[in-house]
Amino acid sequence: MSDLRVIKYGNPILRLKAQKIDKVDADIRRVVDQMVEIMWDEAGIGLAAPQVARSIQLLVVDHSLIDEDGKPTAYLNPEILSAEGESIMEEGCLSLPDIREEVKRPAAIRLRYQNIDGEMLEKNFDGLTARVLQHEIDHLDGILFIDRISPMKKQLLNKELKSIAAEEKEKIAKISTSDIELLTGLSDVT
Ligand SMILES: [Zn+2]
Repeated sequence: MSDLRVIKYGNPILRLKAQKIDKVDADIRRVVDQMVEIMWDEAGIGLAAPQVARSIQLLVVDHSLIDEDGKPTAYLNPEILSAEGESIMEEGCLSLPDIREEVKRPAAIRLRYQNIDGEMLEKNFDGLTARVLQHEIDHLDGILFIDRISPMKKQLLNKELKSIAAEEKEKIAKISTSDIELLTGLSDVT
């Protein structure tokens, strides 16, 4: 069983800029394993570490949902080197349950990242993979897909967002003292 949970909209950790990972150690590998498990449990196609309250530059994508021979893959310290084209796709997010909106993003990206063995790689992505990677990389910058829709559309989601944030606040109120210390000084709870 995983001791990590998917945190929801309203949790200030989702708004932090994630820290760079200097070294792939046992803790990072453990977080990756747990994130893959959570991604499967929650039927997500991607998950970023801040969504499990770890503000580090790590994300996982389940390529098996995109390609027949794909498998869950971890991306560390990802950096978009270039982007081109334009595509509009509907997105959802495990941190924003039941909300789906169309989001416009570049259609293809060139990405530099490290794999779970710490090797530096550069690769081009397009289609759904480019979409998922950009969504998850946004999480590492404290950005949610609802930040990329029109203010008018976001306004229409106001009630749902408030209710997700209220539930998340209740969960935060129940966590232990050590976790509260972690949150001290953060004030972005919406
Ligand atoms: Zn998301």
